[in-house]
Amino acid sequence: MEELARGFFPELFNRSGNKGSGGSSYSPIVLPLDGRREEPARRKAADSDKRVGNEPLSKIRADFPILSEMVDGKPLVWFDNAATTQKPKQVIDRLTTYYERENSNVHRGAHALAARSTDAYEASRAKAADFIGAADPDEIVFVRGTTEGINLVAQSYVKPMLKPSDEIILTYLEHHANIVPWQMIAQETGALIRVAPVDDAGQIILPEFHKLLSSRTKFASLAHVSNALGTITPVEELISAVHSFGAAVLIDGAQSAAHMPINVSAMDADFFVFSGHKLYGPTGIGVVYGKQALLEAAKPYQGGGNMISDVTFGRTLYHNPPAKFEAGTGNIADAAGMGAAIDYVKRIGMQNIEAYEHELLEYGTRELSKIPGLRLIGTASRKASVMSFVIEGHSIEEIGSRLSEAGIAVRAGHHCAQPILRRFGLEGTVRPSIAFYNTFEEIDSMLRILRQLV
Ligand code: PLP
Repeated sequence: MEELARGFFPELFNRSGNKGSGGSSYSPIVLPLDGRREEPARRKAADSDKRVGNEPLSKIRADFPILSEMVDGKPLVWFDNAATTQKPKQVIDRLTTYYERENSNVHRGAHALAARSTDAYEASRAKAADFIGAADPDEIVFVRGTTEGINLVAQSYVKPMLKPSDEIILTYLEHHANIVPWQMIAQETGALIRVAPVDDAGQIILPEFHKLLSSRTKFASLAHVSNALGTITPVEELISAVHSFGAAVLIDGAQSAAHMPINVSAMDADFFVFSGHKLYGPTGIGVVYGKQALLEAAKPYQGGGNMISDVTFGRTLYHNPPAKFEAGTGNIADAAGMGAAIDYVKRIGMQNIEAYEHELLEYGTRELSKIPGLRLIGTASRKASVMSFVIEGHSIEEIGSRLSEAGIAVRAGHHCAQPILRRFGLEGTVRPSIAFYNTFEEIDSMLRILRQLV
């Protein structure tokens, strides 16, 4: 047990104040894991008095209508937050208000509703910029989500500069969305993909990462948090290493943006992408942050209305970024919805969210590790949200459906991250993933089912 704790929270054993990734203005959270903490029963009783920052957990949960749903007569427990998060009524109401009072196309038409929808759209761009510490809202391009964002950067910025034998650096932790777009452009250009390995805890082996870098390195695209293991990667160190070879870096923030403060300027990311739906916002909207000079250098990969300043049959003049990358009618309503989601989490405070989720993760991990035959997959020293596991003698499908019968939604499968699971000799895991509206009591109900199973 101590072995596991040492692997998972080494700072508890060695309080050297090891600085982590993800923005420089806050310290990693260090929580005691030494038996001095409240016992589960006491904590369970206290769930209703819990607060996330200043906000009572009961009030937070009441904001999310779906958390009151019953599934086959049992209260829904939503532990599939890495796939998508539930939406507070502030977000749902924002969508209704948009369609009831503001709906219009943006940037066109000189009428009152065009002004309202443009205001809503651009206000959300400014909120997204502020949320991730971008220098200017014009560095924010709206896309459908992380997947589209990575494809945009691959096609618009990276592909045009690639020559045969140039190299793109990934890590073993990547989601398929951060593998396939790079393979596609590598195949077209003759470039090569190099992959940094991870250790048995699921942490990037830094000396191996450094060894991959050379004058052939043209770009790196790296997960901030692994969706399959929960590993938080040391993005600042990785970015600065890649920069020292003159190459740019994209950080895949799909699994980090909802769980920790993000500051793209402090981490010096060249591109940062995330999805609104994993941040309590609507589906179909997400963000590419790009440094202004890089967005200016990139070629648009879709053409159409909105992105042009002048068109003749002979040539087209493009708008400046971000409009250059937003051909056609954008997802205006959902951008407004994402703005409301950002307002919501900012009010609670990302550091408060991070601290509370860390307590849940620490508790869940410790209790899961006591279940006979259960193997945790991903025991990095810094983790967020995800507790992947398998149990000897039980298929992941069986575990997933036993939990589902109890109203507990977890993902059982490959999580669109086959290479990292195969690194651990697996084709799938059971993956509960938590958010700040989850409770210790919900973790206890999952543990009860698992104990009955084994
Ligand atoms: N990258 C990571 C790390 C993810 O976890 C996901 C989704 O699970 C994606 C990219 C793709 O996100 P989306 O499906 O919202 O485009």
